[in-house]
Amino acid sequence: MKRKKKEKLKLLDDQVVSMDLRNAIQKGQFKLYYQPKIDSSSRQLVGAEALIRWEHPVEGLILPGKFIPLAEETGFITEIGKWVLQEACQQIKDWQNKYHQAIHLSINLSAIEFYQSNIVDIIKDTIQKIGIEAHLLQIELTESMVLIDIEQVIVKMQALQKLGIKIGLDDFGTGYSSLSHLQALPINVLKLDRSFITNIEKEEITRNIVQTIITLAKLLNLEVIAEGVEKIEQVERLQKMGCTLIQGYYYGEPLSKIDFERVYLDR
Ligand code: C2E
Ligand code: MG
Ligand code: MG
Ligand code: MG
Repeated sequence: MKRKKKEKLKLLDDQVVSMDLRNAIQKGQFKLYYQPKIDSSSRQLVGAEALIRWEHPVEGLILPGKFIPLAEETGFITEIGKWVLQEACQQIKDWQNKYHQAIHLSINLSAIEFYQSNIVDIIKDTIQKIGIEAHLLQIELTESMVLIDIEQVIVKMQALQKLGIKIGLDDFGTGYSSLSHLQALPINVLKLDRSFITNIEKEEITRNIVQTIITLAKLLNLEVIAEGVEKIEQVERLQKMGCTLIQGYYYGEPLSKIDFERVYLDR
């Protein structure tokens, strides 16, 4: 009985959210937050990851885990994705104008977005219309989505790289990851998943795996960045292993545009 009621409520909830979702773009309720990527050896800001948030008038700040899956189910993710792309490119441009500084931004794409037949054109048209240098934009894709149709993905990745856009492999090491993908995929950046970082102090086996990934990535000329780094001990371990690019709460949480400017750009 109770469960049924809960399920019904949940369904209602999803319906309300999906209706709200449709209006969220035009109401200006989506915001990009920016999490710094820091080079731990120089302590310099090297760029940021753009992460979407929904400023809901009733619910407050909603994290992507709460609405991206629903947006994917309803297909609305493609509209959201276009907004994210547009907003991130415009932000690159604005920061360049305001601070005379080229800040690299990465954005995340869902499988549904990347498998759109015209995704390369959408990205190309956006960077050209806004007028940013392509190398300042990085696209983060997860390994699991890449595996759905690896041949199609390779073709699209190559087309994007030809434009100058950087490709990052997100959450690397989770799911069905295989080191052979590193060689097969035309990528520029490897993002070590947070689950490795969490265990890096505790487990020797994790350290060995992480060291192997870092070494291989370097041999393949890939940039390696660790995500979810929360402690100085983790930064030091990673530095010793040759990974100096760090993203995580230790250096900074995702911040609104205003806060990001205040902390990293205004001086
Ligand atoms: P992701 O791309 O792997 O992003 C990293 C997530 O880890 C972010 O969560 C970030 O806030 C969080 N994080 C960063 N540093 C730390 C840390 O030190 N400790 C811990 N515990 N967490 C940390 P967020 O912002 O909730 O995003 C979750 C996921 O939602 C992202 O994972 C990405 O897959 C997806 N996402 C975010 N923005 C977008 C978007 O614009 N479009 C699409 N399609 N997906 C998005
Ligand atoms: Mg990401
Ligand atoms: Mg990630
Ligand atoms: Mg993740």
